[in-house]
This record gives sequence, C-alpha cells and structure tokens, in this order.
Amino acid sequence: MRCLKCQNEKVSDEYLFPVITVQTLAVRDITGEKKVQALGKTERYYVCRECARQQLNKDREGTQKIKKVIVRFGSLIPIGVLVIVLATLFNLGPVKYVGFFAIIAGCLALFENIKRINERKKTINKMNETQALKESAWQVLQENAPKKDGENDITYIPIDKSVLEHKKGDLTILYNLLPEIAIEAYKRIKKELS
Ligand SMILES: [Zn+2]
Repeated sequence: MRCLKCQNEKVSDEYLFPVITVQTLAVRDITGEKKVQALGKTERYYVCRECARQQLNKDREGTQKIKKVIVRFGSLIPIGVLVIVLATLFNLGPVKYVGFFAIIAGCLALFENIKRINERKKTINKMNETQALKESAWQVLQENAPKKDGENDITYIPIDKSVLEHKKGDLTILYNLLPEIAIEAYKRIKKELS
C-alpha cells in the first residue's frame, strides 16, 4: 500500500484510515433540487508522515492558502469592475448587473474562505502534536482521495471511535449526511469496530 499523495510505500499503520465512502447525487426535478445518498464500500487509505507533516505546516501558516483564495476569488472583483466600466461605456445597461454580481460573489467567497481557513488554523493550534498530525493526515486524505464516481460525489467518513462520540444529528452536519444515512453510518462504524 502506498501514500495517497506522494506514493511512498507504507511504513507504519499510524495514518492508515479505514473509511466509509458516501455517494451523493444531486437530483433536480420540478420540486427543486434534492439529494440522493447511499453508503458505499469500506476502503482503506494510507497517508505518510511526511505528507501529514507538510499539511500541518500549511495549516499552521494558513497564509499560503489565503493567498491562493485571494487569487482565485479576488480576481472576480476587478473583472466585475471592468464589466461595469465597459457596460457603461457601451451603454449596455443590463450587463452592468453581471459586473455587480461578480463583485458581490467575489467578496462573499473571499470572506467565507478566509473565515474557514482561520477557523481551521484555530482548531489545529488547540490540538497537541499527535492529534494535529492525525487531523492533517485526514485532511490530506480528503484532498487526495477520489471525489467523483461517475455522476456521484464521493465523501468519506472515518471508521473511528471518535465518530461514535458525536450525536447522530451532529454527523449529518459534520459529514453532510441525510439523517437516515447518518444512522446507517453510525451502525456500520459500530459494527466494523466491534
Ligand atoms: Zn506521502
């Protein structure tokens, strides 16, 4: 078995994660959009210590991520301004709204993402080294494991006793699960750990 990120051969079971895959499909019909969700296979993914360490350093700094976010979403703001200027020059009234929309969307995305990165930094800083490394290894897994299976989005729930410590209602929020799927996941984890 190899590290999910750098492909180095596995040397220990420290960051070997058994996970439940969750398949989610967004279905659109006349009543709007709804989610169809099912638990998939149990998989095992390995992350090496170096990759966990790199991720932890990145999370601790956070600034690198914030820079990326600014480049990605911040660019919407000057584009929006440009659209407004051009629409004004060429008298294309309604096109202006596209510009306003880009500016608002850019600001919201910037704000949301910077908030998320800072919250993550705070969570990591509260943990001890062992916990923080494990949390970062889990982050590496989430970023590098397959995210799609055909049309379906794939997410992962760790098969770990810490998951069972949460209320089932919290699992729906933490792992973006439908209530009945959270109950099913809880049962599956309990069974796998027994
Ligand atoms: Zn690695």
